[in-house]
Amino acid sequence: MVYANSHVIDMEKLRRHEQTVEDLRDTFLTGKTRDVEFRLKQLKNLLRLYSENWDRIADALCQDLRKPLGEAKIMEHAFLIGDVKYAIKNLKKWAKSTAIPTCLANVSDNAWYRYEPFGTVLIIGPWNYPFMLAFMPLCAAIAAGNCAVIKPSELSPNSAAVIADLVPKYLDRSCYKVVTGGPEAAQELLEEKWDFIFYTGSTTIGKVIYSAAAKSLTPVCLELGGKSPVYVDNTADMKKTAQRILWAKCANLGQTCIAPDYIICTKEVEDNFIQECRQILRDYYGTNLKASKDLARIVNKRHFYRILKYLAETKGTIALGGENDERELWIEPTILVGVDPTEPIMSEEIFGPILPICRVGSADEAINFINRRPRPLALYVFTNDSNTTKKFVKFTHSGSICVNDCLYQSSLHQLPFGGVGDSGMGQYHGQFGFQTFSRPRAVMERSFSNFENMTAYKLRHPPYLNSHIKL
Ligand code: NAD
Repeated sequence: MVYANSHVIDMEKLRRHEQTVEDLRDTFLTGKTRDVEFRLKQLKNLLRLYSENWDRIADALCQDLRKPLGEAKIMEHAFLIGDVKYAIKNLKKWAKSTAIPTCLANVSDNAWYRYEPFGTVLIIGPWNYPFMLAFMPLCAAIAAGNCAVIKPSELSPNSAAVIADLVPKYLDRSCYKVVTGGPEAAQELLEEKWDFIFYTGSTTIGKVIYSAAAKSLTPVCLELGGKSPVYVDNTADMKKTAQRILWAKCANLGQTCIAPDYIICTKEVEDNFIQECRQILRDYYGTNLKASKDLARIVNKRHFYRILKYLAETKGTIALGGENDERELWIEPTILVGVDPTEPIMSEEIFGPILPICRVGSADEAINFINRRPRPLALYVFTNDSNTTKKFVKFTHSGSICVNDCLYQSSLHQLPFGGVGDSGMGQYHGQFGFQTFSRPRAVMERSFSNFENMTAYKLRHPPYLNSHIKL
């Protein structure tokens, strides 16, 4: 790696984290993190970290994203706490060995497998849900018995500082560490040899992480972004449809990885939907949306202008919204209609409060529309027609699919969360997280009992007695 303004590789900088990783590796090899009671204690400490410092966490979220408290209580508190409690309740069951029934050839053997930790893992987080998306993978890493380094995003600096301060105060310092900084810090960490890398962020940087990991054959889980489509048909309850889509699109002001990115529907559905949206936005946020305490802000100027560019350059019509204020990093939730599918807003992830609507004539056309594009992280279908539901489930591909709501699929710890294709690989939440941060190791234990007279035993060793048997 070459740093800016220099053609000389600074080896000292490059291997800044060598000692940290070596120390963690040494700890892992002592077997400390493999003890289930130790893991349970650390998970309970993670719960304490959260409950004893919630006000600080909420403050940091407010400073970084002006995240509304009510929203933070659901997305950054309830989801995470629920996942950690679920892991605590089930860890002993997940960590147990599974015995495998033996056959005649193994009559005196013991065979089993058990999920074993990878070792020392790296977790790189994004800024949009900075606590949940650092601590939920950490919960899975701890549950599985790993040592871990977390690298939170530099774009939510207040949250990153709180994470860096609290982790060593609550979790075992010899097992879990935090490294703060931006892409350069992440690159330095990627120079080290990890046993597993868990990355959450954009598809573009996901490819950088995957290439770096490939150099040392390090397994990865990539939780990436993309465009999550919504199909609405004329059998849907339009008021509830609009309520649910707007709630999900406006949460964190559109900066949610599984936010509905765009809608595809007929012209008739589009008209009814817009009609409902006017009233719902007023019900949710009052007549002056900018003054509402329940809407977050865009994370920084770069993202503010990136999103505004879509408004300036897309040829559709603004049906609702359209206001912005640079000083406050505020963009009003905006619905664009008559958007051409070839526009950039229909190929790049919006990650902001703009909702374009493209027209399609039928469910089949919508399925074709979705299948011709990169596989999304989430797919949403609003319909009362069970045949339409079946068609979407059967003929589309996405990380997850939710019928008649948005985001809700991620609230169940028993369901896997992850992408497919451009939206990522691997999954977590609940037991899926435990399994992602570990691997099933096969164990066979044979005895020295005397089985020389058994046919199966005789057949195994040369001279082979089965040469004449026809298969
Ligand atoms: P990002 O990819 O820019 O940054 C994520 C992390 O990668 C940060 O910690 C950052 O410091 C690091 N990073 C940035 N450049 C790097 C580089 N060149 N080399 C190594 N590391 C680098 O993503 P973001 O802007 O923080 O988050 C937004 C994106 O993340 C969106 O695409 C969103 O959909 C996606 N996302 C996905 C999920 C999911 O669960 N699938 C969740 C949240 C966000």
